[in-house]
Amino acid sequence: MKKFSIAEMARRQVEKAAKMMNLSDHLLKIFMCPKRVLRVTFPVQMDDGTIQCFTGYRCQYNDARGPTKGGVRYHPDVTEDEVIALAAWMTWKCALVDLPYGGAKGGVICDPMRLSERELEKITRRYTTEIMPILGPQIDIPAPDVFTTSKTMAWMMDTFSMMTGHTEPAVVTGKPEVLGGSKGRKEATGRGVFINTRELYRKLGKSLKGTKVLVQGFGNVGSYAAYFLAKEGAKIIGVSDSSTGIIDENGLDVEDMMACIEKYKLLEAYEKGTKVPRDEILYKEADLLIPAALENQIHEDNADRIKVWAIVEGANGPTTPEADEILERKGVYIVPDILANSGGVIVSHFEWVQALSGLYWEEKEVNERLENKLVKTFNEVWEISKKMNVSLRIAAYMVALNRVAEVYKYRGIFP
Ligand code: NAD
Repeated sequence: MKKFSIAEMARRQVEKAAKMMNLSDHLLKIFMCPKRVLRVTFPVQMDDGTIQCFTGYRCQYNDARGPTKGGVRYHPDVTEDEVIALAAWMTWKCALVDLPYGGAKGGVICDPMRLSERELEKITRRYTTEIMPILGPQIDIPAPDVFTTSKTMAWMMDTFSMMTGHTEPAVVTGKPEVLGGSKGRKEATGRGVFINTRELYRKLGKSLKGTKVLVQGFGNVGSYAAYFLAKEGAKIIGVSDSSTGIIDENGLDVEDMMACIEKYKLLEAYEKGTKVPRDEILYKEADLLIPAALENQIHEDNADRIKVWAIVEGANGPTTPEADEILERKGVYIVPDILANSGGVIVSHFEWVQALSGLYWEEKEVNERLENKLVKTFNEVWEISKKMNVSLRIAAYMVALNRVAEVYKYRGIFP
């Protein structure tokens, strides 16, 4: 089987958009490479007294527009290639929604499901210490990603503060509110997925009421996206997580499932609906699919089996370029990841601004600002897509690459 490189996939998306917009060769060369990739290996004493070595990464892809920003992922399949791709996508996402940030991502190879809380805390504190030389509120600001949470961010913030000798709330986002976390951050990515879906439906003159939705991945992003859609009358007819798929043609009770996850972590503990193999939900007939798990879920071998007319990408990189082409031929609308899931980093930016200023906002203000930014960006991408006759993904990349290119025009190439 052909070895799949996610970083290669990220580069191909850039190349395709660059061609459409006649981007200069020298900028394309810069956009193809990460500025910095740090690999760290560190020992941790486990609860049973043994020592285990863990490997982690932090990639700062491009910082032309400002300090780099991006999540930290804990997963057994984390690789350097994946972290580079995710950092590249953060660069284009931050530029697309016009935040004063570059893009970064980090990850530690570990299986959080098999680690105790104490072990997770030790891994987090040691990983933070190892990447400390390239962290800081004006350098690189982590946030939660797959299998990391506000608790992980609290440990990172505390470790950084202890090492520098002063409390530094602006060094991470997605923190608990009591440490300076922003109101609305936890729901922000899912809310953003919902807002993008609503805007797509509006443009097409369709109603969310009764629309049939499938959600792959029921973590932070998937569960809140499902929650906001259900509140607007959408019918969530299938969801999955790493343990199982669950379907119900009459619509699943999202809040009930969220309560189950809170208590038991996995959907296999959920007793209502009908259990199906995890990937089956991808192939059910519905209107909308929200991939909100991991990369490379919709690829050339399964794209033909997808039976929805719209995909809104909650996850980063869920659709490969080959699948993109297949789905485009079938006329499926895809709201691309760098737009669809940008709600998280938008509110992370608000959190950073609040921490730097020491002035905290009400949730209403956070949500209004998020709504405005997303609607504005969605319209911008939609217009370019129509004007240039390109997919929403290519249009989003054109806006993003152009913003970074503009910065190079004025800053020049050092020295
Ligand atoms: P999470 O850890 O909260 O949830 C991940 C979910 O995916 C879990 O329910 C897990 O069981 C499920 N999952 C894993 N493998 C699966 C598979 N093969 N099939 C079905 N389900 C599977 O993570 P999250 O923060 O919700 O992130 C999900 C995706 O969204 C990732 O691609 C992440 O990079 C992206 N993202 C997250 C944020 C954020 O703010 N958390 C922001 C932007 C993008």
